[in-house]
Amino acid sequence: MNDGDSDATPRTLRDARHAHAALLASAHSRRSEVAAHHGVLHAESASYVVAMIPFSEARVSELPRTRRDALEGVLRQNVAAARAIMHADAEIGPETLLSAPLVMHDSDALQHAESELRAAGCAACRGHCCMAGGNHAFNRVETMVRVMRANGAWSDDELVDAYLGFVAEHTMTDGCVYQGAQGCTLSRELRSEICNRYECNGLRMLRGQFDEGQPVRAYFVHREGGELRGGEFVEIARSRTCGSEIG
Ligand code: SF4
Ligand code: SF4
Repeated sequence: MNDGDSDATPRTLRDARHAHAALLASAHSRRSEVAAHHGVLHAESASYVVAMIPFSEARVSELPRTRRDALEGVLRQNVAAARAIMHADAEIGPETLLSAPLVMHDSDALQHAESELRAAGCAACRGHCCMAGGNHAFNRVETMVRVMRANGAWSDDELVDAYLGFVAEHTMTDGCVYQGAQGCTLSRELRSEICNRYECNGLRMLRGQFDEGQPVRAYFVHREGGELRGGEFVEIARSRTCGSEIG
């Protein structure tokens, strides 16, 4: 998946680190400068963890029939391969994961709040990484083996139909076939492991930042190459979004 971080291409690793540190410092300054405009007390602004995420400019359009057909081709190919593996009772490795292992907390409530915060970040970003989903939606043979094992009674056609049933008529132009205006239209059970667990560098900035009993807050700011734009203060503890700006 592409999370937009590759837009900045400094020549050396040291340059990249300096560029990242400078951008992060700008993001922190920006957070305190704009807090009041978002109804956030200046004194509290530092409690909103900075997360620099990309932003997708894509617009919604009608999904061409050819793209839906291409998805069906991918699904049938992967179902056939998965069925062969199931029949042979062969071993298959786990689906490839591109994210850090999930952090486990003592508190379910904190886990849930952090999960909601990450989802808010993805909504603010408008699914930049999902633009790479194309007509395959990261579906793999391993994905199909997992889904078949969970739904043993499904025939191959039923499995493909289940997937095709989640394709919307309108999707983000040139994005994933399941990328709707409000996020992914495919059920979590049918998504690939990558789709369910991927986190870009921006979302990883939130990991390990929250303690029990403290509000779960983030300042999501969009990075575009070496520039910052927009910004959104989000607090999950009080289940509200204070405001946003794009531009
Ligand atoms: S993981 Fe979320 S925030 Fe990061 S690029 Fe993907 S949609 Fe955007
Ligand atoms: S299936 Fe959903 S989560 Fe996966 S790339 Fe497509 S829109 Fe994104």
